[in-house]
Amino acid sequence: MDVKQHYVYNYSDLPKEGWIQACIQCREYTSKEIFFKAIKHKYTVHEFYIHCCPRCKKRHKTIFNYIEFSDLCDEIIKKRYPELFSG
Ligand SMILES: [Zn+2]
Repeated sequence: MDVKQHYVYNYSDLPKEGWIQACIQCREYTSKEIFFKAIKHKYTVHEFYIHCCPRCKKRHKTIFNYIEFSDLCDEIIKKRYPELFSG
């Protein structure tokens, strides 16, 4: 089975191939990413890493904040990778 990594971040003017991207929640520039989830689709496992700054990550200790983050990530992943959710 193949494993494919995807990096998810907010829109910014930064080069897409760079280490630094915009935090998914507050758009602050950060090189930090969090492993969010893996989705199996056909014969490939897709791993999703979310760019999230240390300040937002700290807030995730509160479960409600984590749910907010997790819902946002799910929404963005579904929007950007619709092919993984068809069929
Ligand atoms: Zn942030």
